[in-house]
Amino acid sequence: MRKINIGIDVGGSTVNAGIVASDGRIIEKMAVKTLVQRGQHEAIIQIIIDSIFSLLEKSGGKSDDIRSIGLGFPGTVDSQRGIVIFAPNIMFENIDVKSRIAETFYCPVYLNQDSRAAAWGEYCVGAGKDYTDMAVITIGTGIGCGLIINGKIFHGSNNSAGEFGHLIIDTEGPSCNCGRKGCLETYCAALAILRDGQKIGNDLTVKDIYDLADAGNTMALKITNQVVHYLGIGMVNLINLLSLDMIAISGGISNAPDHLLLDPLRDFVKRHAYSTVAQKIKINHSALGENAPLIGAALLDETTEY
Ligand SMILES: [Zn+2]
Repeated sequence: MRKINIGIDVGGSTVNAGIVASDGRIIEKMAVKTLVQRGQHEAIIQIIIDSIFSLLEKSGGKSDDIRSIGLGFPGTVDSQRGIVIFAPNIMFENIDVKSRIAETFYCPVYLNQDSRAAAWGEYCVGAGKDYTDMAVITIGTGIGCGLIINGKIFHGSNNSAGEFGHLIIDTEGPSCNCGRKGCLETYCAALAILRDGQKIGNDLTVKDIYDLADAGNTMALKITNQVVHYLGIGMVNLINLLSLDMIAISGGISNAPDHLLLDPLRDFVKRHAYSTVAQKIKINHSALGENAPLIGAALLDETTEY
């Protein structure tokens, strides 16, 4: 019997579901919009279950054909117990998602944080497949990060490892959504770029600011250089701390022209990281892009974690 892997990526406004081959190819994919309201976690769990049945129907499979179901959730996730502990943007608090899915499909169910699932996907079949110690840093509205250490997902004792966006740069810096001040993402994620972009003009998008910088606008270049500077500091600290061999960047801001982001970042890291690591470290674009959490979730298995 043909066995299939199912991956689910639950986001703030959409549930993405797919059938994924063991080499990471997406065989079938669908997306369902969610309306998130307090206490609506049941609705999202139902969307997940319905999506899996729809995928089975589309592919001509049945429940018995499923090898595993992997779920990527935002927020704090206890992957061992299969519980979403706290995901404010979808209003989940202490929800035992794993049991709910397992009691419907009778197959192994794996749950992980979306950024860790993304890192697992890149490690298995994407930008990190030739490496054992790597990070996937997603630079969007905020900054997400998944860490693979010695070929396993690292989640830390409180399931909070990888809070790269909340490395402290300056305790008196700008206020962060996490309630503290001066976190890395207050200097170099989309909200920071938009905030600083207001000095150039009203209603500029992140892309407008990068286009202006590309055209040589001095004020826009100051902003994009600041992004490189602070992301670079974060990456150097991460590399020095963990002796990584590769970092993949993804998320909206990673689409900036290479000469404004990736190239100067590589340069910064070469100049400032410990020289032994700096010579070896690879900093590349993610290979799986926005599908990374879905593909990675589908490839989760019992060997995934420490
Ligand atoms: Zn913070």
